Amino acid sequence: MKKALMYLIFFIIIIFILPILFTQRKNIKINKDIECAVNSENTGLETNTNIESNVDVQYEYNKFSTIKLYHKKSEEIEELPIDEYLYGVVSSEMPADFQMEALKAQAIVARTYTIYQIINNNKKHNNADICDDYSCCQAWISKEERLQRWNQDIAEENWNKIVNAVNSTKGKIIVYDGKPIDAFFHSNSGGSTEDVLNVWGNNSMPYLKSVETSGEDAYTQYSSEVEIDKDELLKKLNIKNNEQIDWNEFIKILEYTNSGRVKTIKIGDSTYSGTEIRSKLGLKSTNFKVEILDDSIKFIVIGYGHGVGMSQTGADSMAKNNSNFEEIIKHFYTGVEIIEVNNL
Ligand SMILES: [Zn+2]
Repeated sequence: MKKALMYLIFFIIIIFILPILFTQRKNIKINKDIECAVNSENTGLETNTNIESNVDVQYEYNKFSTIKLYHKKSEEIEELPIDEYLYGVVSSEMPADFQMEALKAQAIVARTYTIYQIINNNKKHNNADICDDYSCCQAWISKEERLQRWNQDIAEENWNKIVNAVNSTKGKIIVYDGKPIDAFFHSNSGGSTEDVLNVWGNNSMPYLKSVETSGEDAYTQYSSEVEIDKDELLKKLNIKNNEQIDWNEFIKILEYTNSGRVKTIKIGDSTYSGTEIRSKLGLKSTNFKVEILDDSIKFIVIGYGHGVGMSQTGADSMAKNNSNFEEIIKHFYTGVEIIEVNNL
């Protein structure tokens, strides 16, 4: 009988008391978070590392909780919690005045790119997972430097916005066929993104297909021009020519990709790919027209970047038209899903 009573008491503790204890703990945590957010607003930069708490997303990373970041300049490796690393990535890769849903999409894209690098580590940086050079991996900036570079009136507000974009998407990554994607992104697609095949000749990433966007012409990254003296152009391309040149015949776009970018162009006796000419002449994209002037050649360029994957201004434009981060990501990456990294 006594034993039965013991069991009953034990049963009551399990069913009623423990959940109350846990619930209270959670409440305490939430209250503390709100307090942190309020305090840091009042006290300035020193304490605003706590501001991330004002987005209440609890996420325990089972793996991939930290990242070994190689700093190219100092040649040092720093180990950082993954989302803390992502504050530095998102804040240097996307303007903070972009829409919140675009920043969230960027946070998920950057997290996916990072996890992809960890999983497929090709020992590019010895013991590190990734580096802070945008031309090699993805850009990263320290919080101190980031705050200094922004206008002081909005620096703190900007930082909080970035932190919230990362924290409210904690753990989320993009997968295709259950595996993290190689999440390429660029600045401005000029209205249509590019198929990966046309840039790197790689056919193994079916999620990187050309898709259309709208509203990107509203951004400064949309159009640009490069004017090069005819002599200078010959020099840059290593073309020796002593004869009189009929420029209208000398330079000719031969073929366009499906997205309207230059696939091949003939200059003199040589044929170049659009990407080759883009890098040799410093054009912002391979979507260009050629105008022959008296002494120079003008390249009229649309869009900014390689054009593969998510367009950042396209993402912002979609967000302005009420698309959320999921809709943005699924628009730019064909056939993908967003999952929790712990479910990999
Ligand atoms: Zn790198």
